[in-house]
Order: sequence, then structure tokens, then C-alpha cells
Amino acid sequence: MLSADFLHLEKDVELVNRHADLFHLDIMDGTFVPNISFGFPVVEAIARQAEKPLDVHLMIVHPEKYVERFAKAGAAYISFHYETAKEESAEIIAQIRALGVQAGIVINPDCPVEALFPLLDKVDFVLLMSVFAGFGGQKFIPETIGRIKAVRAELDSIGRKEVPIEVDGGIGPDNAAEVVKAGAEILVAGSSVFKAENPAGAIRAMRG
Ligand code: ZN
Repeated sequence: MLSADFLHLEKDVELVNRHADLFHLDIMDGTFVPNISFGFPVVEAIARQAEKPLDVHLMIVHPEKYVERFAKAGAAYISFHYETAKEESAEIIAQIRALGVQAGIVINPDCPVEALFPLLDKVDFVLLMSVFAGFGGQKFIPETIGRIKAVRAELDSIGRKEVPIEVDGGIGPDNAAEVVKAGAEILVAGSSVFKAENPAGAIRAMRG
């Protein structure tokens, strides 16, 4: 939703309701990432009209302070950056799950995927950034493909085939197939949908 039209948010919420599978909400704090996006009033407003689950991606320091409020605001999925939590990550995953919310862990492109391996038996999903967190409209980093394969292989090898990999950043109809082939199941698309001449068509093309 970072690339949605905030002056006419209702129109873009309806687009997602009709054509997509979930609402991906990027929460930026101006500290972990240099940008600031939006907060609770916007999330709550989207929740009131959303007919699809809310997937809240926290790009904030101290995610543990805010997960409960985002759960109350209507999040069905909450992910936070490993970089912000490190050895406290397992605790925060447990905190999110205790709220009845699906818990995900995220890493930026410069964090080795092996950092996540000790957490893969605890999470409900994994989010791999295919650009650096903080801004919409960036280009997909091709090395992400190998990183998706590595996490998929590790998940499969520990018997967690059901855990989906989500990919976020620079995804569109031109690279969706490659990302899915590598083992991703949830594709986050912002500008490739909202800036498209035919947003519904862009979503359909990715489904194809
Ligand atoms: Zn995101």
C-alpha cells in the first residue's frame, strides 16, 4: 500500500479487495530506515474496509513495543526485521503468535540468510527483501533468487514445507515467475501495480 494513492485510499483498498490476496503495509520509523511511511490511523482505516488479511511489515526499531497495537489494529500477519531484534527475535516471534497473529521474520539483502536458520522452526513465514527496506519503487536485486532457494531448501530440510516465503521489493509481471520458481509463494508488489496503467491487469499478469 506504500504506492497507493493516499488521497483516494478507498479506491486502492477496493482494488486489493477485488484482485489481490492481502494488504501489505510497510511501517517505517525514520530510524531503522531513513523514511517515515504511515501509522495506526491509516492501518485502522484500511482495516475497516479490508476484505483481505492485513500483512504488517515493521521496519522499525523495538518492534516488541508495537506488535500488540498492530494486532489490535487488525493485522493478521506481522513481520519484523531480524536486524532490529537479533537474539531477541525468537521472543518477539512468540509474542506475535501469542496474539493470534502469524509471525514472520524479515532480512535486508545484505544480511546472510543463515542468520535466519535458527528461527525457521518458529516462524509462520519468512520475508526476504529484494531491495533495501525503506523506499518504494526500487529495482529488484537479482541475487535474491539464490537467497530464496537457500531459505526454501533449509525450510524443506527441517520439515517445514508449509512455511511460505514472501518477497518484497521490485516485483512485477516481468520477474514474478522467476521468483515463484525459486520457491516464493507471497509476492509483494507496490509500484508495479499502483503505478500501472491497468493495476488489475498487472495483478492478473503476476497470477498467471
Ligand atoms: Zn514491505
